[in-house]
Amino acid sequence: MRAFRAVGGTPRFMVSGTGPYLTDADGREYVDLVCSWGPMILGHAHPEVTAAVQDAVTRGTSFGTPGEGEVALAEEIVARIEPVEQVRLVSSGTEATMSAIRLARGFTGRAKVVKFAGCYHGHVDALLAAAGSGVATFGLPDTPGVTGAQAGDTIVLPYNDLEAVRAAFAAQPGEIACVITEASPGNMGVVPPLDGFNAGLKEICAANGALYISDEVMTGFRTSKAGWYGIDGVRPDLMTFGKVMGGGFPAAAFGGRADVMAHLAPAGPVYQAGTLSGNPVATAAGLAQLRLLDDAAYAKVDAVSAELRSLVGDALTKEGVAHTVSAASNMFSVFFTDEPVRDYEGAKKQEAFRFTAFFHSMLEQGVYLPPSAFESWFVSTAHDAQALERVAAALPAAARAASEAVA
Ligand code: PLP
Repeated sequence: MRAFRAVGGTPRFMVSGTGPYLTDADGREYVDLVCSWGPMILGHAHPEVTAAVQDAVTRGTSFGTPGEGEVALAEEIVARIEPVEQVRLVSSGTEATMSAIRLARGFTGRAKVVKFAGCYHGHVDALLAAAGSGVATFGLPDTPGVTGAQAGDTIVLPYNDLEAVRAAFAAQPGEIACVITEASPGNMGVVPPLDGFNAGLKEICAANGALYISDEVMTGFRTSKAGWYGIDGVRPDLMTFGKVMGGGFPAAAFGGRADVMAHLAPAGPVYQAGTLSGNPVATAAGLAQLRLLDDAAYAKVDAVSAELRSLVGDALTKEGVAHTVSAASNMFSVFFTDEPVRDYEGAKKQEAFRFTAFFHSMLEQGVYLPPSAFESWFVSTAHDAQALERVAAALPAAARAASEAVA
């Protein structure tokens, strides 16, 4: 993604970040609307997060033993997200989903996994089938290096289609270990679940002895204090987290029902481990960030997102560019189509070439957007009036470029 293959041109090499801004190696400053793909919800180099990191570093960077920081971070997660009765720290979102799937298989004694086209759960072999994010952008049909055996137990279904899920369970009774879904997808662009979709998944799983895994790596601690669970209230059996909870460092987690988590080693037989899991610097950064994320902080991020969405929508409307601004709480993306998008097929129908023109115009004017039409835009508490004015000033020319673009 960061190589700009989807939009062409030379990727910018960033050397520093402060608040809502990034500075590249040539000294050019950008308003950052990627926020490291989600984690930097307080902006770059937030003084309190930086101080917590500096303090932790001086006390040593990794011990390979239990530590106070990991317990404090785990307690913060459990306190915020009611269905998480127990939690295990890992170092990336990929590890979190990989481990959650293994645990679901170990717990149920079943092999098959249901995932949805356009949902990305990291580069887990079994989940790299019809994935979103970089896989969506490049239209990779299947990823070389993933064997038939690794992907053979993965059932890929269209998103937002409960009938397809019911049919899969009916066709394979007693074989499906779990359904994994992004709590609200942001890796095919932002495509929120239709009303009742997540609740329906939960119900179908419960009726069939399968686990419902909600991947909140992107939405967790971003879309609300309790992530997407705080918005739709559908109680998953297992959940996965990453991005915001690491405060810009590699920290991630999975957790959920205590009776399921009890199957994890060392208490249970399902193996899972990591040399740097619960790393003291990463947990200090994550904890400092989460402690600053109170109701006022989420209200600020939501307000910034709403203002930006309306600025972008108005600029594109003014130039007569067909588009849909699709939002899930403060995450949003722009589809260059006026058809409502409810799944990956719909997302692929957009005129992505218009995004390319729009993206480069914004970049030239000092606004750093995600370099793909299939990614969410992210904002932070640090995006102040001045940063938004810079974006607003760049939008008319970018909208014109989108309108004049040819396929
Ligand atoms: N799950 C979701 C929903 C994601 O968006 C991502 C990354 O974008 C991952 C999992 C993988 O996380 P990581 O890149 O930390 O491995």
